[in-house]
Amino acid sequence: MKPVVALVGRPNVGKSTLFNRITRTRQALVDDFPGVTRDRHYADAVWNEKEFTLVDTGGFLLSDDDLFAAEIRQHVEIAVNEADIVLFVLDGRAGVSPFDRDLSDILRRSQKPVFYLINKIENASQHHNIPEFYSLGIDKFYPVSAEHGLGMDELLDEMTAAFPDYELDNTPVDDKEICIAVAGRPNVGKSSLINKLFGEQRLMVSEQAGTTRDSVSLTIEYGGRRFKLIDTAGIRRKGKVTEKIEKYSIMKSLQSLDACDVALILIDASEGVTDQDITIAGYAQDRGCGAMFLFNKWDIVDSDEKDQKKFMDELRMQSKFLSFAPAMTISARTGLRTHKIFDMVESIYNEYSHRINTGLLNRIIEDAVFRSEPPLHKGKRLKFYYATQVSVKPPTIVCFVNYPDAVHFSYKRYLLNQIREVAELEKTPINLYFRERTGKIDFSDRIPDTPANKRYAEKKKRKSVKRKKEREIQQERKKARETKDSQNSF
Ligand code: GDP
Ligand code: GDP
Repeated sequence: MKPVVALVGRPNVGKSTLFNRITRTRQALVDDFPGVTRDRHYADAVWNEKEFTLVDTGGFLLSDDDLFAAEIRQHVEIAVNEADIVLFVLDGRAGVSPFDRDLSDILRRSQKPVFYLINKIENASQHHNIPEFYSLGIDKFYPVSAEHGLGMDELLDEMTAAFPDYELDNTPVDDKEICIAVAGRPNVGKSSLINKLFGEQRLMVSEQAGTTRDSVSLTIEYGGRRFKLIDTAGIRRKGKVTEKIEKYSIMKSLQSLDACDVALILIDASEGVTDQDITIAGYAQDRGCGAMFLFNKWDIVDSDEKDQKKFMDELRMQSKFLSFAPAMTISARTGLRTHKIFDMVESIYNEYSHRINTGLLNRIIEDAVFRSEPPLHKGKRLKFYYATQVSVKPPTIVCFVNYPDAVHFSYKRYLLNQIREVAELEKTPINLYFRERTGKIDFSDRIPDTPANKRYAEKKKRKSVKRKKEREIQQERKKARETKDSQNSF
């Protein structure tokens, strides 16, 4: 699991500017998942080869009008509970406010590593503002400027060095083991479902104390398969969660979704589909995991409301991006259809970890292109050369073409649908990327990973970098010659 780093502080201190600054820093940038346009307040980043998830807790607040001292305090308390590292942002221009004192008291009492940032420090004269902050009783501050990117390297170096040790969590994943996460708003019935699926089963093989923070994992064997529940603290052992703060409890979901193969997204059928359910579904999509929707509490849905189709249609309309995720109505209380969940999870997992035979994959693409040619690109034909599946979980396919940027979104969707249909992968996300074919096709992903092959690949890479540099130098020289010639001709 990646550590969660939370940005906290009162409004206008620069949290969202920092969020953008950190996640868009060159070294920290992680390839964005395509097709996601929602406004988001969390992002994956990597610094010094350490991955983390950054959450802007301010982004979860409804609006500034909602901000009461008590609420901000609550939001800091939750962030402290749920995050692994807290970045407390102070405003170096506005100085210390009574709020800041309150919040720093809470933070000082916590056991979590907290980094105190003084933001908006852009020049030497503003350094004069720093001593004032020592009255908070903190001895180490990080003066930064989110807007101008000052002080970020030192902060990120020290922050990543303070990450908790996640080593114990890296026990080799057994391929027969399917990791599932149960996600959903508070009170949709997550703990009830977990108890139904895991708690009452006598087959339960282990309940080990979490190696990271207070998370717990449960494993069960069912039909020859092992299912492991990733339960970040709080789902089963939850405290009092009020509606106001439910937005922050999303941090938990982020972490469990990060490590799962299949997410069970619970929706309270007695309340219908809410925006928050769709937000959580969006996280699952971002994470690229398999997913399944469960409409819980079907036992208390009024009989005249009990129209499964209506529920499904509403869900499908709002979560088009997860159209491959199966949906089912259940009741964690009465056990209605809960026995079908593991079978369904297994079937999703089988697709999620499926490898399509390269010959078949290329035939699918060839046939699809033959049946419906892509439109011309600037008068030229778009050519599909070769496709290969580069990884599983989820199936990720790279297709070599002459103009990758010219593949229209709708044509990509068409190809994906063909792959889904022929390879019978209807319940898993699939990534399809287009790359430009440059001369020879790189088959390196198919070469066995032996030391000799690695050395050979590195040598080849060095050579190609060298050749590229040489070409660039030649081109520059040519350009210089041309400019000189054109100047001479005047
Ligand atoms: P948030 O409410 O804590 O998320 O704060 P924002 O990131 O929205 O920033 C509030 C205001 O402070 C905006 O007008 C920013 O442009 C400004 N701001 C943020 N960081 C800096 C900084 O490093 N220097 C200066 N001068 N202004 C900043
Ligand atoms: P969580 O916050 O998502 O973990 O939700 P809980 O499992 O604590 O459930 C919240 C409330 O919903 C509890 O009072 C449960 O008894 C109730 N509940 C959970 N599942 C069902 C169900 O299938 N039917 C009914 N009627 N109530 C349920």
